[in-house]
Amino acid sequence: MSVMRAQALAEAAQRIGRREARELMQHACRCTHAELIAHGDALLAPEEAAAYAELVACRVGGAPLAYLLGSAWFAGREFAVTPAVLIPRPDTEVLVEQGLAAVAGKAAPRIVDLGTGSGIVAVTLALARPDAVVSAVDVSPAALAVAQANAARHGAAVRFLLGDWFAPLGGERFDLIVSNPPYVAAGDPHLARDGLPFEPDLALTDGVPGGDGMSCVAHLVAYAARHLVAGGAVRIEHGYDQAVKTRALLHAAGYAQVASWRDAAGIERVSGGLWLGTSA
Ligand code: GLN
Repeated sequence: MSVMRAQALAEAAQRIGRREARELMQHACRCTHAELIAHGDALLAPEEAAAYAELVACRVGGAPLAYLLGSAWFAGREFAVTPAVLIPRPDTEVLVEQGLAAVAGKAAPRIVDLGTGSGIVAVTLALARPDAVVSAVDVSPAALAVAQANAARHGAAVRFLLGDWFAPLGGERFDLIVSNPPYVAAGDPHLARDGLPFEPDLALTDGVPGGDGMSCVAHLVAYAARHLVAGGAVRIEHGYDQAVKTRALLHAAGYAQVASWRDAAGIERVSGGLWLGTSA
């Protein structure tokens, strides 16, 4: 028995809300919003109906919409996402903004994004600063493939390197190091909510039992100076309650102009400093 798009949509909307039901319908039928409105009375092909039922069931089961659609928006652009990468958060826009501010006065800055995931930060930086030389590192080959596809999709020139944090960088130095590392503490109940169980643990938590989630942030602070030119900046995203600790690490490591910046929700979300190149 065939069913009309509009009818299937109305039924799904009762379970997952109208907007998501529509986005999944467009995905299942490979049509635009306008086509859906114009042809709401079209009958779903059996394979479309099956695909839609499956998508709606997964969403009801808690799978994040972005994974079901295979894409998500960040800073005004659409990026491919798979379960190998974290879904872009608007919180991360402040990392990009403050990264750009840190190299605003420099021509052709050398930038590296560590733990690039889907590549949203590296790609957005490269597009905002076409003169920059942007590199991006990730330890996950599957994540790097997504990031590479996103760079190609947006025509961003980014050099991708597979490896653990600074390992693939050799002795290279940069004007700017940015990172959105895993920072959720291993025991944080948040990991069991809001779709996080569907996201890669590798991107969310350092996994240190009983830890505070700061081990990757601490590693980045400790080693960044060896990869910064004199006057180079580091900008690291962290958890809502980690700004004070991150600033303390930056001060202790000898960075100047240590500061934190708030995300759109008003939470101190990114901290960083300037390496003056006086030691290490
Ligand atoms: N901000 C994300 C969250 O709390 C975590 C991102 C990360 O660990 N880098 O859901």
